[in-house]
Amino acid sequence: MTAATLPREPRRFRMYIDGRFTDGSGTAVMTRSSPGHGVPVAQWPSGSAEDAQAAIGAARAAFDRGPWPRLSAGERAKVLFKVADLIERHADELGLIECLETGKPITQARGEIRGAVDVWRFAAGAARSMAGETLNNLGERVLALVLREPIGVIGVITPWNFPFFILAERLPFILAAGCTAVVKPAEATSGTTLRLAELLHEAGLPQGVVNVVSGRGSVVGQVLLDSDRVDMVSVTGSTATGRKAIAASAGNIKKLGLELGGKNPHLVFADANLDDAADGVAFGMAFNAGQCCVGGSRLVVQRSVMDAFVARLAEKLQRVRVGDPLDERTQVGALFDGAHMDKVLSYIDGGVKAGARLVCGGGRTGSREGFFVAPTLLTDVPAGTPLLREEIFGPVLAVLPFDSDEEAVAIANDTEFGLSASIWTSDLTRALRAMREVQAGRVWVNTTLDNGPETPLGGMKQSGLGRDAGLAGIEEYTEVKTAHINLQPRTHWVS
Ligand code: NAD
Repeated sequence: MTAATLPREPRRFRMYIDGRFTDGSGTAVMTRSSPGHGVPVAQWPSGSAEDAQAAIGAARAAFDRGPWPRLSAGERAKVLFKVADLIERHADELGLIECLETGKPITQARGEIRGAVDVWRFAAGAARSMAGETLNNLGERVLALVLREPIGVIGVITPWNFPFFILAERLPFILAAGCTAVVKPAEATSGTTLRLAELLHEAGLPQGVVNVVSGRGSVVGQVLLDSDRVDMVSVTGSTATGRKAIAASAGNIKKLGLELGGKNPHLVFADANLDDAADGVAFGMAFNAGQCCVGGSRLVVQRSVMDAFVARLAEKLQRVRVGDPLDERTQVGALFDGAHMDKVLSYIDGGVKAGARLVCGGGRTGSREGFFVAPTLLTDVPAGTPLLREEIFGPVLAVLPFDSDEEAVAIANDTEFGLSASIWTSDLTRALRAMREVQAGRVWVNTTLDNGPETPLGGMKQSGLGRDAGLAGIEEYTEVKTAHINLQPRTHWVS
């Protein structure tokens, strides 16, 4: 196991373009400091627009003329299984890189890498299940075929909160479908994606099939969005970035997959196992320091149990171990950076100034070298405050009471987002009704944040477009082509 310690000097990564490792055309370098320690841990090139164009050219050639899309799914699967084995072999090393760059606890980071191995293996197996349809019921004259074909070159733009796992929910499915890719990881957390490029190379992925260009979203990402040579772009990030993608696609009508923000509710009914619910709500809001797109940030709780439930939840939140990401006992690490921490704290301050009552947390905690915020619970939050409407992306939960089931669902759906919802009740009928009525791409009943490669994910409303993972995650990167085949002598139109 790689020792989970701070490096003596930042680890240097290179980009991967057309099967070669490169510093790119420029000299600009990005340095990332560990948000839990304030120590520089990694460096990579700040890719230029020319680097992005070179990567697109390589992916285009690999798709238009290379072997990858022309291999059988079984042959593609072999390479993907090999990638999974290599990730598994290097899981501790990848986990450490992820921990140092994101600020998440080392045990969690290692768990995410192991989870990613499972996703790569699922996608490798699922590659062979991709099939079309035959329509043999159109009369004796015609037989129709519905073919599924890989879309082509896919741009993959990823965020900083789960850099390796979110890529695993997309890239192996893209490759299973027979597409090629240019990946643009988040500016500050590119290390595991650049290291993955080395493993893809080692696994024997043909030249140009995957390219990784580190750098700014406004430079490298924008080139991917604007390019006519890219057939689809998958963006996981904020709703603001999603809007930029939609604006750019107006120019070339490329397909977009968008996984964006959320303002996710926990619905806690009075008949729930309140102890389990309190634990689940605590986990859902504080996991990854609240920087989780599907994490709960609104607690919609039945009024008759609200005070008791809030007290139980606060007691649990005060016992969450927040601190050094390298400590094996840490449950919640640092926020992404100082500016983000200040933004989270300003949402809390704004809420309190507007009249909200702080039940626990509310400020920084732990070492001043890192950006740690104590899990924060607020009640009596006035309607319309940003705390209730905007995605905060920190360990902050606002409490909203309800009296009837209808009101609970109405409050849950009173947001522009539709990413996830968690329902806590011991009444099966109530759970199923709420599950059907809540507007969210992912719903949990008496649990939260469960996932697996078999199940699709994505958002409703302004939380996104399209679905990743599951069999839908391969279909997402395919085009449907219909063929009608005449089987009879032609009845002439011009006789
Ligand atoms: P972000 O939108 O700032 O950045 C995401 C990516 O987009 C980065 O790689 C960035 O460089 C790139 N980007 C920025 N501007 C761009 C532009 N003009 N053109 C092309 N690319 C550009 O998001 P973030 O702060 O890195 O991540 C947090 C956000 O991601 C949150 O809103 C969170 O909810 C969302 N998220 C959603 C999901 C999901 O599955 N729905 C998963 C994880 C994170």
